[in-house]
Amino acid sequence: MNKAVLKVSVTSLAKSFDRQPVLRDVNLQVYAGEVVVILGPSGSGKTTLLRSLNFLEQPDSGDIEVCGHHIRVQQGKALSRAEKHEITHLRQKTAMVFQSFNLFPHKSALENVTEGLISVRKLHKDQANQRGHALLKQVGLAEKADSYPAKLSGGQKQRVAIARGLAMDPEVIFFDEPTSALDPELRDEVLTVMRDLAKAGMTMIVVTHELRFAREVADRVIFMEGGVVIANEEPEMY
Ligand code: ADP
Ligand code: MG
Repeated sequence: MNKAVLKVSVTSLAKSFDRQPVLRDVNLQVYAGEVVVILGPSGSGKTTLLRSLNFLEQPDSGDIEVCGHHIRVQQGKALSRAEKHEITHLRQKTAMVFQSFNLFPHKSALENVTEGLISVRKLHKDQANQRGHALLKQVGLAEKADSYPAKLSGGQKQRVAIARGLAMDPEVIFFDEPTSALDPELRDEVLTVMRDLAKAGMTMIVVTHELRFAREVADRVIFMEGGVVIANEEPEMY
């Protein structure tokens, strides 16, 4: 972990849905190479927090700085063009892994991984495929490049989703309950890939109920309840 480099900084973040506060004055700092696990009961605002970090959800107010891109959201004030620009840059430096995988069903594992490389990064197909194969190998799926999602297990689909995120060379990866949709026997293969990423120095924010993963891999564990962070501690503390 590099305490000199702040990758994610959230200050006084607030968000309501239909006048119901879902995030209230959330503050969070994550340093380069740090793995932060967010625990908390269903409905406590974990997903809303993660989605706010890359503006999949627009917060009502607060400061968000991710990978050097800063956006200040003020109640009732529209984002400026410059801030929208910052959001675009911020998104290019982050990846998000969802509980539900979100793969393209009509694309093979390889095509799912290379899609962004070709359409966003404008790589030639050969180069994209070369990188795609390497990433599938990294997540243990070298043999599945030509398989379609319907022919993959949940654990394999989630590993393809992680490879797809890695393809864009993110500086930070957000995971939202990456193993919650999986049968217990398929969870370890995904957690192993995540553990390897953590070891390789990736900055990660992980919403999960996997306590063993939190204990073994997290540098810090955050507990949320009712839209607030109620504790922020080293994993040995619990
Ligand atoms: P968690 O991920 O911790 O389960 P969420 O962030 O998904 O919690 O949800 C927090 C609260 O916000 C819940 O009460 C949920 O019903 C509400 N909520 C989440 N998304 C929306 C939405 N798009 N519209 C209205 N309410 C929402
Ligand atoms: Mg959630």
